[in-house]
Amino acid sequence: MNSRTCEDVLDLLEEKEDCTEEELTLLLRCEEPQVVHRLFTLADAKRRKYVGDAVHLRGLVEFSNFCRKNCLYCGLRKENRKLKRYRMSWEEMYALCERIARLGVKTIVLQSGEDPWYEAKPFAEFIHRVKKLQVAITLSVGEREPWEYALWRDAGADRYLLKQETFDRELFARLHPDDDYDTRLECQKVLRELGYQVGSGNMVGLPYQTPEALALDIKKFQEWDFDMIGIGPFIPHPDTPLGHFTMDPEKKCLLTLKVLALTRILTKTTNLPATTALGTLVPGGRERGLRCGANVLMPNFTPHPYRSQYTIYPGKICVQEAWGGCLSCMKEMVTKLGRTIATDYGDRVRPIR
Ligand code: SAH
Ligand code: SF4
Repeated sequence: MNSRTCEDVLDLLEEKEDCTEEELTLLLRCEEPQVVHRLFTLADAKRRKYVGDAVHLRGLVEFSNFCRKNCLYCGLRKENRKLKRYRMSWEEMYALCERIARLGVKTIVLQSGEDPWYEAKPFAEFIHRVKKLQVAITLSVGEREPWEYALWRDAGADRYLLKQETFDRELFARLHPDDDYDTRLECQKVLRELGYQVGSGNMVGLPYQTPEALALDIKKFQEWDFDMIGIGPFIPHPDTPLGHFTMDPEKKCLLTLKVLALTRILTKTTNLPATTALGTLVPGGRERGLRCGANVLMPNFTPHPYRSQYTIYPGKICVQEAWGGCLSCMKEMVTKLGRTIATDYGDRVRPIR
């Protein structure tokens, strides 16, 4: 490591919009308020330059909380027997999508645990039907076979979100008893080849996660040139093996915002959500995310009583909100920040290199 100071790295980021993993680590470790403030201001300026002031809304439907996996951090893990499980029927899901589309929301995100009950073929038929509502469809249902991804793409699915969670191999292995690091990346390759806009992301504040590991995540985000990247704090769930790993929320929030800001600067036009987890971690968390790089919000449209049962992590905000309430709340949030709500589909536009 040379003797660069944090200010030097910020100069470099401002001008070149790039830096090394070591330089990222230096900034991630730095807690000097002026440095952090300058980083966030810079990320906000780059966000404006590359994706403008419009915020894209992605309507979230959490249609099943069954999961065949046991990721150590997640409340939906199979071995969590305390969770009351639910599955929405195709008809229930379709009626919901119709209502969301009628509200003018242009993207519907269909998310669940890894639940094989939803077989590939009926899922494809469902996607085909929902596409007639003139919405973009994002799938977030975990690892499946290439032929299944292909079938859904042919049926009209536009985007796929499959987070790596961490690019640190050792940490990945510790957290994922059922998953293989390279298999997950192989899924990303297949999805990209099929023409999906692809999304990855990480969690910040995981046990055993170092600033070096976070710097690696950011470099990998850049290298893979993902179309969207979900960066959210890890929130311990008491009914999981990682339930007791606590960290000061404000500290974790700042670290998450730093990762978000640096990701914006290095990836330029990527779609970056201000995550619900960030809003759960600290009051006003999503607003802070929108002010240091984020350009996406995900209003929750999961119907009651299911919404309160999709407890990936505890204390999730928006769970008590009436159906559709998240939309008006977010519109207000965006207006208050002096930003606008996007009216287009919000596909990712690659930067000119
Ligand atoms: N089963 C699918 C989608 C549902 S999980 C999948 O795993 O891809 C969606 C996201 O929830 C995960 O990518 C993870 O980043 C996030 N998540 C899980 N447990 C969490 C926790 N305890 N705190 C914060 N985010 C969590
Ligand atoms: Fe299942 Fe996804 Fe949770 Fe892992 S993160 S246990 S795959 S819902």
